[in-house]
Amino acid sequence: MNETQPQQHTGSYYAATLNQPTKYPSLKGEQSADVCVIGAGFTGVSTALHLAERGYNVHVVEANRVGWGASGRNGGQMIGGISGESTLASSLGKNIDQMVWDMRWAGHEIIRERVATYGIQCDLKAGYLDVAIKKRHLDSFEKDLDALEKFDFPHEFRMLSKAETADTIGTDAYIGALLNMGNGHVHPLNLCIGEALAAESVGATFYEQSPVLNIEHGNKPKVITTYGSVSADFVVLAGNAYHFLEPKLRGILFPVHSFILATEPLPEDLVKFVNPKDLAVCDPNFVLEYFRLSADKRLLFGGRCNYSGSDPQVIRRNLLPRMLKIYPELNDVKIDYAWGGTIGVTVNRVPQLGRLSPNIFYSQGYSGHGVNVTHLAGQIMADAVAGTLERFDLFANIKPVRIPGAYTFGKQMVALGMFYYQLKDRL
Ligand SMILES: Cc1cc2nc3c(=O)[nH]c(=O)nc-3n(C[C@H](O)[C@H](O)[C@H](O)COP(=O)(O)OP(=O)(O)OC[C@H]3O[C@@H](n4cnc5c(N)ncnc54)[C@H](O)[C@@H]3O)c2cc1C
Repeated sequence: MNETQPQQHTGSYYAATLNQPTKYPSLKGEQSADVCVIGAGFTGVSTALHLAERGYNVHVVEANRVGWGASGRNGGQMIGGISGESTLASSLGKNIDQMVWDMRWAGHEIIRERVATYGIQCDLKAGYLDVAIKKRHLDSFEKDLDALEKFDFPHEFRMLSKAETADTIGTDAYIGALLNMGNGHVHPLNLCIGEALAAESVGATFYEQSPVLNIEHGNKPKVITTYGSVSADFVVLAGNAYHFLEPKLRGILFPVHSFILATEPLPEDLVKFVNPKDLAVCDPNFVLEYFRLSADKRLLFGGRCNYSGSDPQVIRRNLLPRMLKIYPELNDVKIDYAWGGTIGVTVNRVPQLGRLSPNIFYSQGYSGHGVNVTHLAGQIMADAVAGTLERFDLFANIKPVRIPGAYTFGKQMVALGMFYYQLKDRL
């Protein structure tokens, strides 16, 4: 793909079930704003909405379409937590337990609040299962359970035995699970577009099909596309794994690919069998598998794999045997959609929030935990622009690990990385 050639949405189930496609104009002429956000995924849109609600004049410049990247293609699983939390906690010292704990769930609260305030139709549902394949997974869920108890988590949560897990999700592939009704799932593209419309309704301006080609740094940075520019007091970079501008940012992020199959809508008896409680389900491996039902009762089954293309046949060949291993009962079910996207993974797994210069901020690298954390990140970015740096500094003070050749040798390094993690998952 030519990175500067604007694209339409990928052929996903989400793109096929959009409430309202966006058709924002491309950026033309010389514009000015308080803040220019580059990238209209969850990070960019969430930042823009937080800022516009506070009265900032925000312009968002998107290379493709709102939600075109990982935000509009993901599993839709709203999972609490920030990746790399132990690194985060150990580098921060004592007395920040409550703060880190609150940040684990902050993104969920933001999503629920926005869905309610702006009436966003995005199939938001409560309920999630962490499923265990190995004993060490159960041990780690027990620790999570202790923390949920310690902090008085306000939603239902409990461990499920192997038999209860099998009853709940119709498969004996797992040895137990942690049920958490504070997590959930959502149609991510409809959420992202709903939030963009909300931001527009409070004054934000969006441009699509406008790849940013250059940023002139300075007192008033200038964001430049083929036909226009935005001069702003602040710039927020929110391109994550699709970012192709600043080599400094690409060098600290691994692109990892994840893929999803959507079956045809399942008949009622199969729905009752595979997921009667309508929970999102995810295993803890790095080369993980995750699944849930869509609003129209398709099984959306996802997993990471060592492939970087977008050919639905290859995706299907890779994921279908994995889906049938868990649900052999779905052997005769048709697959209607297969698609994939790119995630930004950091070496220490801690999301990277920082600045390239005093007025150019960035946020990226959620290492798979994006739906929740991007919403928190948007709030932290908006705080940083407004001069409140407490939570921003927690992240910005952690030095990102640079990966020599991460971008140039991306595919080879990803293949090596996936192999390493596959071995680790098996232990
Ligand atoms: C298949 C898949 C499944 C996933 N499942 C889950 C899940 O179930 N739960 C979960 O929590 N997370 C999941 N994730 C991760 C999550 O989707 C991401 O972490 C999150 O969406 C990142 O959001 P973002 O806004 O930072 O980046 P993106 O959504 O990737 O958005 C970046 C945007 O920036 C734009 N951009 C880049 N460069 C430029 C430029 N130069 N000019 C203009 N625009 C530019 C791109 O076009 C893109 O639209 C999944 C990811 C994938 C790919």
